[in-house]
Amino acid sequence: MSDNFLDTSIEFIKGVGPKRAELLSEELGLSTFGDLLLHFPFRYEDRSKFFQISDINAELPYVQLKGQITFMEEMGDRYRKRLVAKFRDESGSIDLVWFKGVSYFKKVLKTDQTYILFAKPNAYKGQINLVHPELQTIEEYKQQVRSNISPVYPSTEKLNKQSLGGRQLQKLSSALLAKAKGRIKENLSKEIREHYALMDRERAIFSIHFPNSADELKAARFRLKFEELFFIQLDLLKLKLVKLEASKGFEFDKVGEHLNEFYEKHLSFELTNAQKRVLKEIRKDLGRGKQMNRLLQGDVGSGKTIVAVMSMLIALDNGYQCALMAPTEILATQHYESLKEMLSEMNVEFALLTGSTSSADRKEIHEKLEDGRMQILVGTHALIENKVKFKNLGLAVIDEQHRFGVAQRAKLWKKNTQPPHVLIMTATPIPRTLAMTLYGDLDVSTIDELPPGRKPIKTIHWYEGKRLRLYGFMEEEIAKGRQIYVVYPLIEESEKLDFANLEEGYQFIFKKFPPPKYKVSIVHGKMPPDKKNFEMERFVKGETDIMVSTTVIEVGVNVPNASIMIIESAERFGLSQLHQLRGRVGRGAEQSYCVLMTGNKLSSDSRLRMQTMCETNDGFRIAEVDLQLRGPGDLTGTQQSGLPINLKLTDLSRDGKIIKLAREAAQGLLDRDPELKMEENASTIQYLKAQKKGKTDWSRIA
Ligand code: ADP
Ligand code: MG
Repeated sequence: MSDNFLDTSIEFIKGVGPKRAELLSEELGLSTFGDLLLHFPFRYEDRSKFFQISDINAELPYVQLKGQITFMEEMGDRYRKRLVAKFRDESGSIDLVWFKGVSYFKKVLKTDQTYILFAKPNAYKGQINLVHPELQTIEEYKQQVRSNISPVYPSTEKLNKQSLGGRQLQKLSSALLAKAKGRIKENLSKEIREHYALMDRERAIFSIHFPNSADELKAARFRLKFEELFFIQLDLLKLKLVKLEASKGFEFDKVGEHLNEFYEKHLSFELTNAQKRVLKEIRKDLGRGKQMNRLLQGDVGSGKTIVAVMSMLIALDNGYQCALMAPTEILATQHYESLKEMLSEMNVEFALLTGSTSSADRKEIHEKLEDGRMQILVGTHALIENKVKFKNLGLAVIDEQHRFGVAQRAKLWKKNTQPPHVLIMTATPIPRTLAMTLYGDLDVSTIDELPPGRKPIKTIHWYEGKRLRLYGFMEEEIAKGRQIYVVYPLIEESEKLDFANLEEGYQFIFKKFPPPKYKVSIVHGKMPPDKKNFEMERFVKGETDIMVSTTVIEVGVNVPNASIMIIESAERFGLSQLHQLRGRVGRGAEQSYCVLMTGNKLSSDSRLRMQTMCETNDGFRIAEVDLQLRGPGDLTGTQQSGLPINLKLTDLSRDGKIIKLAREAAQGLLDRDPELKMEENASTIQYLKAQKKGKTDWSRIA
């Protein structure tokens, strides 16, 4: 019954009708009563206060007056008519002006009537007037479902022109709420509401539209944010539970010769405590007989590779094959090289498969994969091509996951009858709140400690005026035998311009640091891959002193002797990108530096970004600031949940506390009622199902 009510078409609200209903649906996606109830105000105006006309000044955002019209006159010519009226209260009088609907207002407004007026004061030729004020009779004013805090609704230009602006939407909301009493169903159990001191749903919806006080509004918003997040978390955690229950996983219960041999003979350093903890978490997952879906996050240089390698050795010990995937050929190659370093003395068969692998090699790799001789395959996307068949893929490690879409990952699963364990590595630290929302169905392991003995990178912000000093600094460092990166921004819309900047910068540096004394490499995205690799290689081998490039070197590349990172036009980079770039240095024993070069004029956001970079090397801290500055961005596409992450009220950068509470509540519910069968949760389940209707079911592939 009440469900039908909320599903009723919006056209049946008084004053809407089919035509305007269509407009509302096109412009704001509002089709039903339920949609309109959830179309929340984006701000509120204080209507508790009546102003005296004598107190009005042009700085006031809005004023509410009570008085009478004493006089009206149509002015201007036939083409530019306007209506001017005098409005008076006991303190004085003020002009009201209409440029539109002149004859209409002239007809309906009366001079013997008391009106409540609401308008924005406007300064015009040294006088203050009120243009297009809202006027209501005392009766109209009293009839409305209303409160002193008056809601302002988001609308669009087009709707505005069709008299469906914020003001009219307020009327529609008010009319709808008058009919909705007793028909808005609760969707959280009494237990949860009591435990988290949540307002009941109907009252929250009434209050968010027409709050009686600031406190009531706060409580209503809390309740509705909580609800919004609760259902996302419930969906994610349910998905996780289902995956865990349903997905039988390979059980890696042996710890055998590969891991032991590696640990005893080939591990050249002591693992950090964080690495040990994370490995323990992974081992536990692998031994449970359920499929592992784990996100391994750790700042650049925190030592994720070794964790991946040791996890793969566990798979080998149990007779399974592994895949290690990277988003670019350079990275895949580096992973392959570091495997060579670590595993060359062990009896492990591994290979690299990328777009440039020769067909003869490719054929051999395919064969060995199918008969099981090949134990670890490192590669790019080439690895998920249909031709690539494993005998028994047990663990897939995916590096830098954000470039690897959900759909691509899904392809991996098809390589087995049973899905392999999955370890996703990312060097982009994600603030906890965001991780809980985006990756809520994955388990997260965090390496929050760098290997010992690292010298923290020193970061300096220099304005253009320090350029000569920069070159002097570069000379000194090269003289000490160091290598230097110089990075230029590349932003897609202005690719041409950036390329010009890069070329220009290269020429300039080439002149400043001429051969034969100095050697300079250049790499950019438009180069053919073989040329790019060649230049890259020269720098990696230490044959060149300076690498001038765009952000292609952003991810993963490891050149320990490169200890200076110079970022040109640093104000054009986002924080996380700056941090990623900086992570290219600080990998060797020498003191490393990052120099942020910017123009003299910086926005306050840019200044905060530079300042943050200079203050901290902590990727998590930087990610928090980034989130505050930019907001969570577009979440669709990366989201794992089946629910659309369309947050109407929540601000992920500010509502961390509520996210935590909502997740805790959702987890608690699933702990008590894993199959969601208890009577007290019936309305919750019903609501969840209704929300999911027609949405892509990512659980099938994620
Ligand atoms: P990332 O997390 O960025 O992928 P890597 O795995 O590439 O980091 O590790 C960075 C460097 O630190 C590598 O040279 C690696 O050998 C080294 N490393 C990793 N763990 C340790 C450790 N516990 N002690 C000393 N060095 C380590
Ligand atoms: Mg790495």
